[in-house]
Amino acid sequence: MDPLNKLASLFAEFPGIGSRQSRRFVHYLLKRDKAYITELLRLIEELKESVSECSRCHRYFTKKHREAGGECAICSDKGRDRTMLMVVEKDSDLDAIERSGTYHGLYFVLGGILPILEKHPESKIRIGALLTLLEKESINIQEVILACAVTPESEHTAEYVRNEIVPIAEAHLMTVTTLGRGLSTGTELEYSDADTLRYALEGRK
Ligand SMILES: [Zn+2]
Repeated sequence: MDPLNKLASLFAEFPGIGSRQSRRFVHYLLKRDKAYITELLRLIEELKESVSECSRCHRYFTKKHREAGGECAICSDKGRDRTMLMVVEKDSDLDAIERSGTYHGLYFVLGGILPILEKHPESKIRIGALLTLLEKESINIQEVILACAVTPESEHTAEYVRNEIVPIAEAHLMTVTTLGRGLSTGTELEYSDADTLRYALEGRK
């Protein structure tokens, strides 16, 4: 395969990018100058070295030091409300909630959603790590908020997670809530504005 097609096929693996868009990316790169390409390559190479996955909530964060591992700034912030754990699908949802400034508890990032009829749920989302975290922090956590989008697959994911965590929640007297219906159907959390997120959070049940 020639470089143009090869690169296009790599871009087509990106989330939400189809084959037509991936070819547009390649043509866009062909038009840019050498300095842009050099900077782009440098940043991509640096990404794995400078960004780390939080050992607790599993979000990606920029490391202050070169060594791997450790907790992100949110998890290690002693000022956060440790009685609340919000479970989100992806980093960009967490970012949207943080930007809205309406939530001051901790998070857990599932890292995906469950396709309906998925036979191996544990391969699609971090359900095992979530259960471990709940057990480990059961003394602190009083409420688990399932913050999934209002789409069939997201609602399916929330339902699955709820069923999995109920035994631990009941044993440790935790409440399990979901965001209120301030979110309109089909909306991704990451595209919701601050007021909508606040309303959904206040309306949780
Ligand atoms: Zn974290």
